[in-house]
Amino acid sequence: MSGNPKPKTGHLHGIGSKPPKVENIGGTLRRIWRYMAEERVRFIIVLAAILISSSLSLLGPYLLGLTVDMVIEAPGSGTLLPMLGSLFLVYLFHSLFLWLQNYWMIGIAQNAVRSMRSHLFSHVQLLPVLFFQRMQQGELMSRLTNDIENVSRTLNTAVVQFFTSLLTIIGTLIIMLWLSPMLTLLTLTIIPVMYFGMKWITNRTGPYFKKQQKDLGDVNGYVEEMFSGQPIIKMFSKEEDVIDEFREKNQALRRSGYYAQVYTGFIPKLMNMLNNVSFAIIVGAGGLLALNGSISIGIIVTFTTYSRQFTRPLNDLANQFNMILSAVAGADRVFQVIDEKEERLDEKNAHEVSEIQGDIQFVHVDFSYEKEQQTLSDITFQARAGQTVALVGPTGAGKTTIISLLSRFYDPDSGHILLDGVDLKSVKRDSLRNQMGVVLQDATMFHTTIRENIRYGRLDATDGEVEQAARSAMAHDFITQLPDGYDTVLDSDGKGVSHGQRQLLSIARAMIADPSLLILDEATSSIDTVTEMKINAGLTNLMKGRTSFVIAHRLHTIRSADVILVLKSGRIVEKGNHKTLMEQGGDYAALIQAQASERKERGYG
Ligand code: ADP
Repeated sequence: MSGNPKPKTGHLHGIGSKPPKVENIGGTLRRIWRYMAEERVRFIIVLAAILISSSLSLLGPYLLGLTVDMVIEAPGSGTLLPMLGSLFLVYLFHSLFLWLQNYWMIGIAQNAVRSMRSHLFSHVQLLPVLFFQRMQQGELMSRLTNDIENVSRTLNTAVVQFFTSLLTIIGTLIIMLWLSPMLTLLTLTIIPVMYFGMKWITNRTGPYFKKQQKDLGDVNGYVEEMFSGQPIIKMFSKEEDVIDEFREKNQALRRSGYYAQVYTGFIPKLMNMLNNVSFAIIVGAGGLLALNGSISIGIIVTFTTYSRQFTRPLNDLANQFNMILSAVAGADRVFQVIDEKEERLDEKNAHEVSEIQGDIQFVHVDFSYEKEQQTLSDITFQARAGQTVALVGPTGAGKTTIISLLSRFYDPDSGHILLDGVDLKSVKRDSLRNQMGVVLQDATMFHTTIRENIRYGRLDATDGEVEQAARSAMAHDFITQLPDGYDTVLDSDGKGVSHGQRQLLSIARAMIADPSLLILDEATSSIDTVTEMKINAGLTNLMKGRTSFVIAHRLHTIRSADVILVLKSGRIVEKGNHKTLMEQGGDYAALIQAQASERKERGYG
């Protein structure tokens, strides 16, 4: 490794590299709506409630004006109390309907967001392995959590507020015009100023909000990667570089967050000022109009309230618009993942395989990840049922790729892979993978007990079978020496048991799945001799009677393989068993000699 421990630039075509702008707001909104559509009826009820509460909020100031006029014209009149009573009822019901619409809307929002979340999560499960190699884990996490949370928050409140504001503005305008067109016109003079101020602000906040989301994803992704990469970072003394790089990302997030918030913060200040100006205009001009008798004092009172009721929703509209914009940006990022192509569907007439022999043939297989570069060329070999194939060769030779093709993470560009004489392409992926077991270098463990980790290989296995598998995998002894035995809870990164022990558990897990095809990626890291012997014994047990493909590093495995494929730059350069290949005296023989002398130097003898 040289240079900085650069994070994978985990962006899929387009994701993150687009300009910070939601391209298709209408389309994204429609897609969000589709998640809410199940609750169409409830949503219509909410809209009705919004209509009622908005009307009531218009009725209030009007009644207030009437009451004032009544007091001025006929002080002491007996109608004052009933008027006040109805005012009270109007505001009471107004609050009630506000509460109801929020209550219902939150229900709708939470259901919509729940389906969005599970859609995203289950879709991610169907994505090809390639996707995960390209997309940072933190970035994906951020979409599943932050972005969806953002949508949730907006649906909870902003949607109701948005409609309320809209109705209030329209309703107020109508009533004001009806009461006094002249005064309405004066009140409205302030609107263009507001409009342009607002436009200026939202033009600036939108992009920053999206950039803020992206930068947050970047920071999260980086943190996650650097935390999990700590041992390597320490090993290569890259702490400083990592801190520097983090500082840059953190700085970018600060900048976008800062501007998004600063510009948003202008809005209430501006509105407040304009509100006061409008208030002064109404009282001044209204006073003059009242003096010459064209309007009543009550109308001025009504207007002062309406003017606030009018400008506040305008102000809110901008806020809500911002929130909705930011949620749409979040939703857009979620939908980008949902739009990622799933692993290719099985061919139409694909069939299930259940009882297989395990005879595998590669026939002139070519494959490349990217067009320019051929990764595998003309791979041809046969593994008869029950045989062990060792894949040997330098890093990058194509060993893992052969395994990926066999697992059908990818399909060959040309040539065929045959299972018991049948083209793999005509086999359902799931049913194929059900026949396969893997023991990988990086033996993934889940955060649960050892027992459940082993049982993961076959969920209906009994405790007895789990123990049986652990015995054949040579894992039983070390498990029973742990204080909690089979109930020891592992960390998801397997802390608490050694690397070699994780391998043993992984062997046990494969053992219990009882697959016909086995894939082994031997650990390159050295493991103590005792554990290595156990692993060898466990593997020998496991491989018995199964067709096995081993990415082999250990002489022990290679020597006993039935077929050894020596790979170099994506081609098979030598093929045979240990004896024939040694006799050939080619690449293989050289490799083995090199390994043997290295072992001698290290004192393995
Ligand atoms: P090995 O397992 O022998 O070390 P691999 O099969 O992993 O080799 O890699 C073979 C070649 O394919 C290498 O040049 C590697 O860089 C390239 N390669 C591996 N995985 C990918 C991928 N997901 N996308 C593009 N190229 C890849």
